[in-house]
Formats: sequence, structure tokens, C-alpha cells
Amino acid sequence: MVAGTGRALIARRVGVWPRVSGVYSGHMSAGTLTLCDDCGLLQQSPRLPPRGSAQCVRCGKTLHRHQPDSVNRTLALTLTGLVLFIVANSFPFLSFEMQGRSTETTLITGVVDLTAQGKGEVAAVVFFTSILAPGLQLLLLLIVLTPLKLGRPLPPGFPTLFRWFKRLVPWGMMDVFMIGILVSVVKLTDMANIVPGLSLFAFVVLIFVLAAAQASLAPDVVWERVPLPPEARRPPARGEVVVGCDVCELVVPAGAAKIDRQGRARCPRCTDVLHRRKPRSLERTWALLIAATICYVPANLYPIMAVTSLGQTQADTILSGVLFLLHHGMWPLAIVVFTASIFVPLLKLLLLFFLLLSVHFKSSWQPRRRTLMYRVTEAIGRWSMVDVYVVTILVALVRLGNLASIEAQAGAVFFCAVVILTMFAAMSFDPRLIWDAMEQDHVGARSGSPSVAAT
Ligand SMILES: [Zn+2]
Ligand SMILES: [Zn+2]
Repeated sequence: MVAGTGRALIARRVGVWPRVSGVYSGHMSAGTLTLCDDCGLLQQSPRLPPRGSAQCVRCGKTLHRHQPDSVNRTLALTLTGLVLFIVANSFPFLSFEMQGRSTETTLITGVVDLTAQGKGEVAAVVFFTSILAPGLQLLLLLIVLTPLKLGRPLPPGFPTLFRWFKRLVPWGMMDVFMIGILVSVVKLTDMANIVPGLSLFAFVVLIFVLAAAQASLAPDVVWERVPLPPEARRPPARGEVVVGCDVCELVVPAGAAKIDRQGRARCPRCTDVLHRRKPRSLERTWALLIAATICYVPANLYPIMAVTSLGQTQADTILSGVLFLLHHGMWPLAIVVFTASIFVPLLKLLLLFFLLLSVHFKSSWQPRRRTLMYRVTEAIGRWSMVDVYVVTILVALVRLGNLASIEAQAGAVFFCAVVILTMFAAMSFDPRLIWDAMEQDHVGARSGSPSVAAT
């Protein structure tokens, strides 16, 4: 089974299916125990060859990936990324030239202009997703990896810093911002001359460098450096409930978890609160999903921006933006904007409604396919930010008063809310609930959960 560079390996299940997925059946060596994030199955991870990966036997999720020379490669990419980040934020980004007049923008101009137009909520989201989250990710990687590379003691609060890095990853959306730039430039080509600045080139390279840094990072290598208390190192007893940490992926016997002052079980390695399932997953997901559905209506009915050209003002909704691109023969971009702004949010709402109802009615239909649907909702949501970025970039570029100017409108606020609420909804949903319904006939998955971990 352990062969060939790059070959996918399958994690091993031992003997029969466990009756309750989080209970140790006594057949595995504790050092390589893994709990799958997506289906909750306890299994044994094989030793990986270079660049090999291990998949869950039940749902197919990639559990581990071997990254050769992870620390050196990730650190080199992080340092390159930091230099590019400083360049991208220090020089002109795009220039807009029309009838002898011009405006010059930097990366932050759109955020400042949106705030000035009273759309502070949208400005905060754009600032966080396009500048702050990528910048913080690079900084946290530098702080975490430098002592590892130099063989120095780990900095205080190291697990918290690395935990924050992991939490920030889905919120860095520079790649989506890039699509926003493309759409904005194409929209303005008839009207004016757009000149790219030095920052834009640094920004494009940074997208690839940050993605490469994330891909070359093997979190196991980092977590292995955090010493474990003896209690957490003991193998679970046969039939004992084990708990997996969602952040550092440590699997420990429930009794080995540290209990804090509020009585919550905490991971002995990264100190994150341990849950057998995400707390109040269904209630939270329902609440966020209903809020997103309500916001979806004004997001599509209200204009997202008002365009003033030669003294005449015209309001643009999301749909009219797509039609504009179609009428001007730019159908590839029209398809991109339609998919990102209309199709993806609707698909995400429908998939989440379907998943919630299927869990509610304890459906046993195709759990593997439903887990895949969940992964799709998690992966596609961020691409809907394209239109929010288009508004931000246009507002920053087109600032020539009555000659030509663009102002953000209420639709942009509601649309931004839809994207963020559906992202939080997907994060709140626990796909392990899909599989719990499959175990209802057995010992009873829920009654088997340890009291310390049921926070
Ligand atoms: Zn799984
Ligand atoms: Zn942990």
C-alpha cells in the first residue's frame, strides 16, 4: 500500500465498522489515530511516502498530505510574500484616464472611498478580505516558522498564533479580488484608459506565492513541536470515547482533555475548546441561512451602484450589470459575473437548506454525496465577492465628479451580507451530523458522547 511518489493512500479501518465512530475499538496503535473532520470516523493513518496523501475510508476526505521540506519551502515563500505585500500596498495600483483628466488609486483607495460614501460595513469586509487577512497570514507564518527553522524555543502563545493562521485562510480572497479587477477594467474600456501600476503586478504574483505557501505547509510538522502532557500521550482504553481537535487534529481519550474554569474541555496541545460535534450546529446554521435568504431579496432588487456619466446618473443592479456585459458582447465575463453573483449564492442557499432538512429528517440518502455537497458549499461561497470588489474598484477609479463618477448603493451592502452570512452558515454546519443519522440504529451516537466534550 505504501508505494509510488504522489500516490493517494487510503487510511485503514480495522475489523468491522465501529458502532459509534468516536469510540476506540482497541485495534489500532494510538500514535496514528485520526478522526475525520467530515464524517467523524476514527481510523488509522498510514505512513505516507513523499507527496503521498491519505483519504478517509468512509467519506473520501483527504486526511493528511506529506509535504517534503515543508518548513524551508513555506518560510521562503512567506518571506517572498511579505516583500510583495509591502510593494502591493505602497505603489499605485491602477490609473484611470479620461478626456485629459486622470485619477490614481492604491490598494486601499476603494476602502477609504466606500467609508466616505457611508458604506463602512462593505469597506470593512473588503479591507479584511483583500488586505488584512492575507497580510496577517504571512505575518503569523513568519512568527511561527522562523523559530522552527532556527531550532529556537517556540514563541509564547505559539498554538494560539498558529490557530489564528488556520482560521484566517478562508477569509483571504485576493484571487477573487483579481477577478473583480478584470471585470472592472473590461467595464471601463469603452469609457476611459486604464493603466496598471507596479502594485498590480506585485499583487498578482502575491496571489500565487501565498497559495503556494499555504499548499506547502504541513501543519503536522508544526504541531509535533508542541510538547504533550503525559496524560494526553496515553493510548485510549478499549471502548473509551476519543475526541479529536478541529484545529490541531490531535486525537486524545476524552478523559485526557484539560478542563477550564468554565468546565469546557480543551485540547491539551493547542488549547482550543474540544467538541464532539460543532456546538449548536443546526440552530446556528438555520439562523444564518434564514438571515442570508432575507438579505438575498434586497441584494437583487436594490441597485448596487449609481453610475454618473456626463451629468446623467443611472442605477445598476446585479442583473443589469450582467445584461450590460452581454449587450457589449463581453459574454465570457457576463457568464463569470452571472455565475459568481446570481447562480453561486442561490446554489449555496439551496444546498444548505437541503443539507439541513436531510439532517433534520435523519435521512440515510447518499451520505457521501451529501458530504460532497457540503464541501462544494464551503468552496464556492467566497467567489460571490466578485461584485462587491467590482463596486469597490469602480468607486475608487471613477472619481471625476459630473464627468464620470460611481457611488456604491444599498444593494451592495445587502449583497455583501449574503456572502458573509452564507460563509458563516457553511462554517457552522457540521457534516458529521449527516453520518450520525447512519449510526442511529446502533448504540446511539449522541448518547455515546462524553459529557466533558459535549460543550
Ligand atoms: Zn470521513
Ligand atoms: Zn488542538
